[in-house]
Amino acid sequence: MAEFEPGSLPDLLPLYYRRLFPFGPYGRWLRYGDVPKNYFQRREFSFTLHDDIYVRYQSFSTPQELEKEIQKICPYKIDIGAVYSHRPIQHNTVHMGAFQAQEKELVFDIDMTDYDDVRQCCSSAEICSKCWTLMTVAIRIIDRALVEDFGIKHRLWVYSGRRGVHCWVCDESVRKWSTTLRSAAVEYLTLVKGGEQTIKKVILSDPIHPFIRESLNVVKEYFEEYAIVGQDILGNKESYDKVLALVPEPVRETLQKEFCKKRNSIQRWELLKNKTEKFNKAQWEIMLQYCFPRLDINVSKGINHLLKSPFSVHPKTGRISVPIDLQKLDDFDPFAVPTISLLCHELDKTGNYQAAEEQNEGELESPRRNRDYKKTSLAPYVKVFEQFLEEMDRSQKQKSPKARDVQMDF
Ligand SMILES: [Zn+2]
Repeated sequence: MAEFEPGSLPDLLPLYYRRLFPFGPYGRWLRYGDVPKNYFQRREFSFTLHDDIYVRYQSFSTPQELEKEIQKICPYKIDIGAVYSHRPIQHNTVHMGAFQAQEKELVFDIDMTDYDDVRQCCSSAEICSKCWTLMTVAIRIIDRALVEDFGIKHRLWVYSGRRGVHCWVCDESVRKWSTTLRSAAVEYLTLVKGGEQTIKKVILSDPIHPFIRESLNVVKEYFEEYAIVGQDILGNKESYDKVLALVPEPVRETLQKEFCKKRNSIQRWELLKNKTEKFNKAQWEIMLQYCFPRLDINVSKGINHLLKSPFSVHPKTGRISVPIDLQKLDDFDPFAVPTISLLCHELDKTGNYQAAEEQNEGELESPRRNRDYKKTSLAPYVKVFEQFLEEMDRSQKQKSPKARDVQMDF
């Protein structure tokens, strides 16, 4: 009944935007405490409408205006862009060259298709609970580095709705980063290099960089269960030859001869570990090539690059782009993320209760309809989003106690 049909999107979106999309916290996020002047007004939003009609450079005076417009046009997809020098809606009236992207969250896009050479269970747009471990590992590695190596505080990790995750780094100083700084950060976080033609994509330096050492500790926690057991990367000749191609020459030959005598991946991995003991790096290079996060550099480095908004619907799967609770990262299940059809169905079921409640409240109060998500399985994800916002509020207040007093005087 709540199975998602892409064709039903035009029927479901009006309800979703009218009663479920959490416009309250969403507007609070993008206003950033209204400290930088006209910040919200200078933000680009882009909408994908029916038939892949794509509208760029939309901007709004207030979050309420954005809400009204979204409810009116019911976009299939919402993208968030940069904060520009001028209101994006007026970009044609501004003198050429003067219209510039000035600020944006630092964003990361990790997509499962970039791991196709190292996963056996699925390919291209498919994902399953087995390969999802790669996303868990990626989030843990990148997030640790953001916090401990970069000193970043405010990260919002979001499920893309289909086959990957996004990260929005929202610290005030980071939003001002230049393209050069963004590129440098991605460069720091990149290890797996080379395209389809490259066989060995990870070559460790000596000594190993502290960031890689920390990342390796994360990979070690997951590798055997994920790659050896789950993906069975040493299970047959075709797949273990790919692994052996990463091992240095003298050991490779020995292993090649002995691998066919072993029965399964686990036994072969034990053998490989023993034989490569003297070159520990060989073992680690395999682990990292199979598990280390693969970032889309272009998404992160361009200030004016657009990224799908949190709480936007994925038009193909119907799943909502929901924030991920890092405290429960290992339990995050992309298949448990609600689809728009499930949410609308849940809302239908609460219909009677809803009517009664509204009668009690009376029309004068006019409760914000889009708080109805609280009655659906979207609620826990909005809560994660609100916790993220509370953290940001706290930092904002610590930073400018005076600004807060002024606000209170009003
Ligand atoms: Zn899979």
